[in-house]
Amino acid sequence: METELTKTNSLAEELRAAVDRNFDDQVAFLARLVQFRSLRGQEAPLQAWMAERLAERGYKVDAFSLADVDLMSHPKAAPMDGIDLAGSRQVVATYDGDGKGRSLIMQGHIDVVPEGPVDFWDIPPFDGVVRDGWLHGRGAQDMKAGVSAMIYALDAIRAAGYAPQGRIHLQTVTEEESTGNGALSTLMRGYRADACLIPEPIGHKLLRAQVGAIWFRVRVRGTPAHVAYSETGTSAILSAMHVIRAFQDYTKRLNEQAVDHPWFKTVKSPIKFNVGIIKGGDWASSTAAWCEFDCRLGLLPGTSPQEAMRGIEKCLADAQSTDSFLSSNPAELIWSGFQADPSVLEPGSEAEQVLASVHQVVFNEPMQLQIGTAVTDTRYYKVDYGIPALCYGHYGIGPHAFNERVDLESVRKITLSIALFVSNWCGLKKL
Ligand code: ZN
Repeated sequence: METELTKTNSLAEELRAAVDRNFDDQVAFLARLVQFRSLRGQEAPLQAWMAERLAERGYKVDAFSLADVDLMSHPKAAPMDGIDLAGSRQVVATYDGDGKGRSLIMQGHIDVVPEGPVDFWDIPPFDGVVRDGWLHGRGAQDMKAGVSAMIYALDAIRAAGYAPQGRIHLQTVTEEESTGNGALSTLMRGYRADACLIPEPIGHKLLRAQVGAIWFRVRVRGTPAHVAYSETGTSAILSAMHVIRAFQDYTKRLNEQAVDHPWFKTVKSPIKFNVGIIKGGDWASSTAAWCEFDCRLGLLPGTSPQEAMRGIEKCLADAQSTDSFLSSNPAELIWSGFQADPSVLEPGSEAEQVLASVHQVVFNEPMQLQIGTAVTDTRYYKVDYGIPALCYGHYGIGPHAFNERVDLESVRKITLSIALFVSNWCGLKKL
């Protein structure tokens, strides 16, 4: 007798063979993706290439920009800080199916963070080199490998002689690393589904809960004076250090309050504060006339972005009140990106159950859960649009670091996992 499980197992073998047959091609596709230096504001050439690759697979392709939706009218749109909306391109490829199965959005971001000094890398960050089973480069892990997996999962289904029944939107977006406005724009454009899957590099786990994040910039003035009479001046750099220390202390207090958080109590210091950029001063023998620095502060489920922003304002105000210069020369506070909600994937959704069952088939062990101290785009689907959004993907090393790389055997397995998930979620028919 044929049971659901034996059906899934024999389908898994057919799909595994199809993923394997296409895998050299998939690795070449991923290497090409890495070779696009798709930093923020520079993603358009990659997106144009992507639109062609998806169109030649027979999908209906909608390529649009952030200027094509009324982005800033949305309460969850985050400030873009000088980035050209028209240059920030999004790609949505639609496969219609026969409408008899459940629909699915699969989404990946193709923006990458800056690589830093290239001579600190062992292998140049945009060469897309494969060595010893790893594909190296900025964005290889986070998350161009996931983008390759979602596209080649559908290719494998077709190559095995099947067609999904539910409608599928394959989406590549920008702005994930800075605002989330790319993902938001696809929702404003009208794309919806019964579930969403974002194959971020979670190391074969499912992301159960994630933090939110706020980006802000602090601009501090100084009073320039010759260093010979430095007591007559004020260094904006030293004032900035005073403010930064205050934010470090504030973060420590927030983490002390988080020790019994329902989702994050197992994570040590889940709220991370980072000063990621600092600029200031003009001359080694002048007290610094100005300094500005860019920060990111996390927030946990139960705190809204607005509450977190009020907390940041208060921390800055308190720091200034204890400083003789800053108390009469207040710093400027600028909201410079993320105003991201924290979010939780509520346990028990059908989408999660389907993913857990296919994960068991592919990995031969139960799917583990991850509690995340970084932001992902899944928040909009879950928090704002009521769509269960699964964040689940491959294993790699070094996101945002030197020598970022992705384990290709992991990519192969996740591609199969996604193909099986699509088969079970959307339904399949024989071609
Ligand atoms: Zn990512």
